[in-house]
Amino acid sequence: MAGSNTFLRPPGARSEKEFLSRCLQCGQCAQVCIFDCIKMRRGFNFFMAGTPEIDPKVAPCYLCMRCSEICPSDALHDIDIYDVRMGFAELDRTKCTTWTEGLLCRSCYERCPIKWKAMILERGEYPVITDECAGCGLCEHVCPADAIVVIPTRFQNKKRGPKGGA
Ligand code: SF4
Ligand code: SF4
Ligand code: SF4
Repeated sequence: MAGSNTFLRPPGARSEKEFLSRCLQCGQCAQVCIFDCIKMRRGFNFFMAGTPEIDPKVAPCYLCMRCSEICPSDALHDIDIYDVRMGFAELDRTKCTTWTEGLLCRSCYERCPIKWKAMILERGEYPVITDECAGCGLCEHVCPADAIVVIPTRFQNKKRGPKGGA
């Protein structure tokens, strides 16, 4: 996905404009991530190159919150796990095998780090993503049917709740 614009910023990232003005491109966030999901962006864009990005298809965020704690410039600010808004996961019911075929997959639900808040099971069976989604991408990563895509917060029109940053 190098070069793609659909990447996620790490948890606690401020609005994209403020994030870019604060990020020192120091890479400490990537170094502290034990899940190796943060990559430093490549390319020739002076402002973007060297800033952290996450591709949930390759390696999602596990919401351990180490990166936002260590960031020296507060480009990632230290927020509660329930306030994280990296993006919003969209579930395509026409692709989901539980919704279409009644198969008890549940992979996304089982891996959601904040299940019963961000993801619920309608009638105890069918996965539904709520407004509390953190956008970590774990559900997108594990879905065997490719039915989930996380839309980065910077591409969303509507603000979800009074949460700061991504
Ligand atoms: S730790 Fe903070 S300042 Fe350093 S690269 Fe990551 S986001 Fe940027
Ligand atoms: S919260 Fe943890 S898993 Fe997620 S990007 Fe930061 S260090 Fe990596
Ligand atoms: S619904 Fe998906 S993207 Fe949202 S918090 Fe749960 S696992 Fe993460």
